[in-house]
Amino acid sequence: MRLIDGYLLEVLVCPLCKGKLLVRREPLALVCPFDRLAFPVQDGVPVMLAEEAEPLSADAVEAVRAEQ
Ligand SMILES: [Zn+2]
Repeated sequence: MRLIDGYLLEVLVCPLCKGKLLVRREPLALVCPFDRLAFPVQDGVPVMLAEEAEPLSADAVEAVRAEQ
């Protein structure tokens, strides 16, 4: 969790749209609300690859947005 708080989250952007990311807690992932993709965090390291990302429904994105 340490890696995705504060500073690092400010630096990380979506690799597709370069937009700001949201944090999903369970399971831990960084979410792009524009592309509706969840980038997994493996061993504390965000995997910022579109081909590794999980597609999310609009409802799932709203749920993550509500967590922030
Ligand atoms: Zn994006």
